Amino acid sequence: MADPKGFLTHDRELPPRRPVDVRIRDWREVYDDFPAERLTRQAARCMDCGIPFCHNGCPLGNLIPEWNDLVYRDDWREAIERLHATNNFPEFTGRLCPAPCEAACVLGINADPVAIKRVEVEIIDRAFAEGWVTPQPPLARTGKRVAVVGSGPAGLAAAQQLTRAGHDVVVFERADAIGGLLRYGIPEFKMEKRHIDRRMEQMAAEGTEFRTGVNVGVDVTAAELRAEFDAIVLAGGATAWRDLPAPGRDAEGVHQAMEYLPPANKGFGDSTVSARGKHVVVIGGGDTGADCIGTAIRQGAASVTQLEIMPMPPADRPGSQPWPTYPMLFKMESAHEELAELGGDRVYAVSTTEFVKDAEGRLAALRLVDVEGPATGFKPVPGTEREIPAQLVTLAMGFLGPEQGGLLSELAELSAGEFFDPRGNVARNKTYQTGVDGVFAAGDMGRGQSLIVWAIAEGRSAAAAVDEYLTGQTALPVAIPPTARPLV
Ligand SMILES: Cc1cc2nc3c(=O)[nH]c(=O)nc-3n(C[C@H](O)[C@H](O)[C@H](O)COP(=O)(O)OP(=O)(O)OC[C@H]3O[C@@H](n4cnc5c(N)ncnc54)[C@H](O)[C@@H]3O)c2cc1C
Ligand code: SF4
Repeated sequence: MADPKGFLTHDRELPPRRPVDVRIRDWREVYDDFPAERLTRQAARCMDCGIPFCHNGCPLGNLIPEWNDLVYRDDWREAIERLHATNNFPEFTGRLCPAPCEAACVLGINADPVAIKRVEVEIIDRAFAEGWVTPQPPLARTGKRVAVVGSGPAGLAAAQQLTRAGHDVVVFERADAIGGLLRYGIPEFKMEKRHIDRRMEQMAAEGTEFRTGVNVGVDVTAAELRAEFDAIVLAGGATAWRDLPAPGRDAEGVHQAMEYLPPANKGFGDSTVSARGKHVVVIGGGDTGADCIGTAIRQGAASVTQLEIMPMPPADRPGSQPWPTYPMLFKMESAHEELAELGGDRVYAVSTTEFVKDAEGRLAALRLVDVEGPATGFKPVPGTEREIPAQLVTLAMGFLGPEQGGLLSELAELSAGEFFDPRGNVARNKTYQTGVDGVFAAGDMGRGQSLIVWAIAEGRSAAAAVDEYLTGQTALPVAIPPTARPLV
């Protein structure tokens, strides 16, 4: 423990966000730089607990007290070694993770938790800046070939681990660029895409091959893939979205979030579906909804309103969600801050009853009603019906699981047991293997809609299982079993 009094003498501090009126004019990340000496003070707050609950809070089992101590001692090079020991892509999690580690930090019981995520991102950014992140090609090749389907965080983590173990790995991606939701779901202002490109360069130099524009199941069949490769890792995500089948759903101007965000991310706002000059309503109060808000604001929306059917969450941890669980609290993400400053609304406990069209079939308004719930099944409150203007609606209500059909249907036919679990995700045994010999599944495709940190943890763990399947042994680490779940 570097500074035994650190947690008593320093308060939690994060870098400031750039002013709203400045940052909404560009697509760059929202945070200002954080001077090293201030970060060191944050690392010094770590108490190096005998039982570091943060390890358990982090699905990757990141060695948090170790790298906090190393940062405090100014040994950044060793800090990135320890961080990379458990996390292939700290530049993604350090920017995007909701930090369940901080919810489990022991200091958080009666004070503000250690700013773990900020320390994490500063370590990796410094490592890249210093040139310490270099390719780690394998010392020997096994001659075994592995296909990874999907290039999100799960597929990339699996691919990097397996390439480093000496296998010939090809990543297939149906989109025109690598990254999965990191590339075309999550906007530039949350994570600039150059971070993905930089990591791809390292992976390519290590020997991972990337093939974009290949929809497996359409452009190449599962049978062809099985013939060409010794093992397959399915990491195609959970991209089947939840819809809102209210009257008028077919109105022009109603889009799924994942129809709206990808074109905006491709051209950084120069989108085929632009919010410019429109009254925008975002249905869904989660991360995806926040991404739609920040995007619409940057595109120049006339107004933005966010609707959520659940009641407003509490600001502080309620007794029903005690430490060290991850509590569902009222969040003020950067996009929410922008919304508040620009006079937009976040409306809770409300349900959409109709998409109102104009004579040409274009969306003109939304009809809403307040609801009581969830215990009463979201019962409408009489007398609260109203309309709000809307020319663009984005539906950000979550995802139901992986897209069935195509590749998965073909594999399901070959499966020895049930290929899907009762929730429609790809079923795996305890070593991530599906019912088809040599076919493994990792990330949202097996777990259902989740988080980047879980996807990386699954990709790393599935890689260990594949390595053992191919060679009879493995030295690759296993972060979690497929059955691991968040502490709730
Ligand atoms: C808008 C949005 C914002 C989010 N924000 C956050 C956040 O801030 N923090 C966080 O932790 N999580 C966030 N998430 C969740 C997180 O992005 C996912 O949990 C994570 O990306 C899942 O990783 P994955 O590798 O399993 O799948 P994905 O990232 O979904 O990648 C799957 C890839 O597989 C490809 N694919 C699918 N089928 C095929 C096929 N047949 N052939 C070839 N390629 C195929 C897809 O095109 C896709 O690129 C967000 C999700 C969304 C939608
Ligand atoms: S990956 Fe997420 S949970 Fe793990 S240490 Fe980083 S911020 Fe915390």
